[in-house]
Amino acid sequence: MTLSRKPGTLYVVATPIGNLGDISQRAIQVLTDVDLIASEDTRHTGKLLRHLGIGTPLTSYYREREQHKAALLLHRLHAGEDIALVSDAGTPGISDPGSVLVRLARENNIPVTAVPGPSALTAALSTAGLTGSSFYFGGFPPARQEARRKYLASLVALPCPLLFYESPHRIGKCLADCLQVLGDRSALLFRELTKLHEECLQGSLSQLVRRCEQRIRGELVLIIHPAAETVQERPEDLDGLIRWYRDEAGSSLKDAVRRISSDLGVSRSRVYQQALVIWNECGQPAQQPEDGHDKSGQSC
Ligand code: SAM
Repeated sequence: MTLSRKPGTLYVVATPIGNLGDISQRAIQVLTDVDLIASEDTRHTGKLLRHLGIGTPLTSYYREREQHKAALLLHRLHAGEDIALVSDAGTPGISDPGSVLVRLARENNIPVTAVPGPSALTAALSTAGLTGSSFYFGGFPPARQEARRKYLASLVALPCPLLFYESPHRIGKCLADCLQVLGDRSALLFRELTKLHEECLQGSLSQLVRRCEQRIRGELVLIIHPAAETVQERPEDLDGLIRWYRDEAGSSLKDAVRRISSDLGVSRSRVYQQALVIWNECGQPAQQPEDGHDKSGQSC
């Protein structure tokens, strides 16, 4: 370590959340140029660095030892070394370690700069089609049911969408609590963003609860609309009504065809032809109207 009066810079570097092609040119440059990379899991980051052909030394920086490691890294920054902070995936400090070192660096007048890039939060947010400008990001809801319900109850009145990270083995219970505490709101469940099996399950919370009775794999982001947006005005044209029965009422194709035909006085066969086209907009094959199955959540 060289002693220098000019402190080094702490770079907070975002890394891919699934698709390695999402690493930025600047991230590659910074990871190559810094003296040290502080990483949540050195084995995990080691794989990324090998893929990129980068040989920068690594040191671990994980939640349980954040305080201790932050002090050591601060010392090296003071000595003039440039350090990049990375987490396993996405942006450090967002439901990931990082904040302790960043705060310590700022308190000690060490330059801190972001190398922005992937985050499951922004990936979900930007593809959810939300119309308002505000949202509430809740990170991971508490794991214990009592604490989770209490936490959700504190969010009931928020007039903006709620975003959560959740693990696949807890998503069923979490959705059931959301339904019970927040009511049957519209929601989107993003799975495996930027990866091969990326999908978005969309529907009411009760539909998503049913969908999650089957096993859900992969990484998940849940977005729940505010209560006020859940009840959409019913459109009066054929296409709008089909989408409304599909998205808002959560009807089966069979029910939607029957009701729209009677609402608009249009023949069932005409409604059925058009409903087939629209039902398939989300990439999910429509069930035959004869089968009578309810659809639970659509894959968009
Ligand atoms: N710092 C990361 C970021 O900026 O996205 C988040 C880290 S947090 C420990 C990990 C959680 O993020 C996962 O449990 C999941 O909820 C969400 N997540 C990460 N990658 C994802 C992906 N490809 N698709 C969906 N959710 C993802």
